[in-house]
Amino acid sequence: MDALEILSNLDQVFPYFQPIFSADEQRIIAYEVLGRYKSEEQIISLGSFFQDNEIPDEYKYEVDLLIVRKALEKAAKLEEDICIFLNRNADLLMYGSGEPFLQELLEFEKNGFSLRRIVLEISDHQYDGDLDQFDHLLQYYRTYGIKIAIASMNRESHYIDRIGQLKPDIIKINLEALKSTATGTNFNDVLYTLSLLARKIGAMLLFENIEMSYQLQFAWKNGGRYYQGYYLHPPSVEFLSRDLLKSRLKEKFHDFISYEKRKLEAVYVTTEYFQAQVQEVSAKNKKVSYVELFQALAKEMEGIAFRMYICDEDGFQKSANMFKGAEGWYLQMEYLNKNWSWRPYFLENIIKMRNERKGILSDLYCDIETGETIRTFSYPISGSDYLFIDISYQYLYEHEQLL
Ligand code: CA
Repeated sequence: MDALEILSNLDQVFPYFQPIFSADEQRIIAYEVLGRYKSEEQIISLGSFFQDNEIPDEYKYEVDLLIVRKALEKAAKLEEDICIFLNRNADLLMYGSGEPFLQELLEFEKNGFSLRRIVLEISDHQYDGDLDQFDHLLQYYRTYGIKIAIASMNRESHYIDRIGQLKPDIIKINLEALKSTATGTNFNDVLYTLSLLARKIGAMLLFENIEMSYQLQFAWKNGGRYYQGYYLHPPSVEFLSRDLLKSRLKEKFHDFISYEKRKLEAVYVTTEYFQAQVQEVSAKNKKVSYVELFQALAKEMEGIAFRMYICDEDGFQKSANMFKGAEGWYLQMEYLNKNWSWRPYFLENIIKMRNERKGILSDLYCDIETGETIRTFSYPISGSDYLFIDISYQYLYEHEQLL
């Protein structure tokens, strides 16, 4: 598309609006503004126009301003708690040191459009100017109540750094990456990091590019408060009824919740089952050594467990590992006296078991040595000693609700 054609037909430039839905109210809480151009044949996205490095910033600024003006004029008739997301890359935002754009927004505020309703969706991964200055500008904008969303980008490390530095109000996560299973695991890890970070800094997660039901489920399950994508609604020229998807989203949530509850129930039932098994075996083997106890447990938990060991409440290992290799069970003496108190949740779980005198089945995690996804059943065996039984992937696979 020819940039000149656009610049000489500015009256054909206009905004599209893509609705953003919230999980807590199941209705539209915002629109993202997207630039469109109506050529003779069709309506096209202005995305590539704004990304084109050949086009001078002042032209981009002019076209963008037009879209913003048209969008906010139209948005004036929306209910006052509906926010407007505006895409800003760093170059565009830094145009004229950010002053002309702010003046423009302040004009709208004078006419009654609160700047608290503006969310700037920023991306700065291609910016080669001074990032400190850019951050200062954003902080300045925020003093007017303007919110900041950070859009996901290809370079994850940069993304995570920037989230830490900017402490945005909203973190946008692009679900396109989820489509390819090759990057699936990696994406899960990044997402986990993001959700922890979001919680620490009090940011909300917004999942975008939701195109299928399972992606909505993924977003819901991973702490997504806001959702956007073709599966919910494509961008369009008009605003929509806020409750457009309320009943559909409620239905969806009902399915997600039932599914998740079934899984949690399965974990609960399995924990009770392991608890009963271990309790029985340990009651029968009270006076024996830990190795003999392992042998008795191995018999009872054949096909379930592949590793057992005992730690004291400070995490020091008081037994060797009993490990099931290709040839059967054997002892790994080198683990004696190792310490595991540094592992996530270790001490929390000890305190819980100590007080409740009950076993715990862990969440799914990747075993460092075997590389397999497993769970661990831990159990207060006697005095201040705790038994750990690693449950094989095979068993979890056969009981798929545990995966
Ligand atoms: Ca965007």
